[in-house]
Amino acid sequence: DAGGPPKPPSPSPIPGVKHVIAVASGKGGVGKSTTSINIALALQEKGLSVGILDADIFGPSLPTLLGTKEKPAINNGVIEPVKSHNLKAMSIGFLVDTDQPVVWRGPRVMGATQQMLRDVAWRPLDILVVDMPPGTGDVQLTMVQQVPLSGAVIVSTPQDLSLIDARKGLAMFQKVGVPILGIVENMSTFHCPNCGHESHIFGHGGAKETAEELSVPFLGGIPLDPDVRARSDAGTPVVTSAPNTEAAKAYKDIAASI
Ligand code: ADP
Repeated sequence: DAGGPPKPPSPSPIPGVKHVIAVASGKGGVGKSTTSINIALALQEKGLSVGILDADIFGPSLPTLLGTKEKPAINNGVIEPVKSHNLKAMSIGFLVDTDQPVVWRGPRVMGATQQMLRDVAWRPLDILVVDMPPGTGDVQLTMVQQVPLSGAVIVSTPQDLSLIDARKGLAMFQKVGVPILGIVENMSTFHCPNCGHESHIFGHGGAKETAEELSVPFLGGIPLDPDVRARSDAGTPVVTSAPNTEAAKAYKDIAASI
């Protein structure tokens, strides 16, 4: 068929990896990385072998979230994933000096993403959780076209603006036929540590309404909890370091339903 737009590359599986799940958001700062790591750890608690790939080349956060700056071993071009919290992990932050900003252009970014998908000794894995870069640009689209994704989890805060962006993310996955596992509402509620009063700093319920409108599952809400942030910054994510908190339970419920 002459003419017409070029066909996108057809996705090819990562050998020895049963499922690849993308965690995405329409914009940065909504808690996508925090959700990714906690869901990965919660999936692992279910007895699955889990890997996590930080696909955010410009703002890698996995080294901080895992509390390690270990440099991966590279043997004959094969990169050994960093083992941390029993997860196999990879991030550009393990490979390059993160004090220097990454100023690469598209092709180099794609090359690095490809390498982290294809040249890492991931196998065997039940699930590889991919913490996607924020937004819905070319890199994200190419990424979803390269690997057959079992599904995508969309993270949003309850605000309208974040939800509008989340819809764009959702549409991107749907366009390439990736099933939407559901929407997570992060920073859903806040319980005052002094008086116990529940408030909704960024609004409440918007993600559930959006999920209903778009006929995709609502996976649940994660409370806004300073402890979630503190534990993330300390490299000890809440699911394993404070398993009885409301937030940890919420992440585990989400992992159980995907
Ligand atoms: P993104 O990956 O979407 O850019 P992050 O996961 O890096 O977002 O989260 C942004 C900031 O918000 C981080 O400092 C993180 O610790 C914090 N954060 C994320 N989720 C929560 C939450 N539920 N409660 C409190 N802080 C949170």
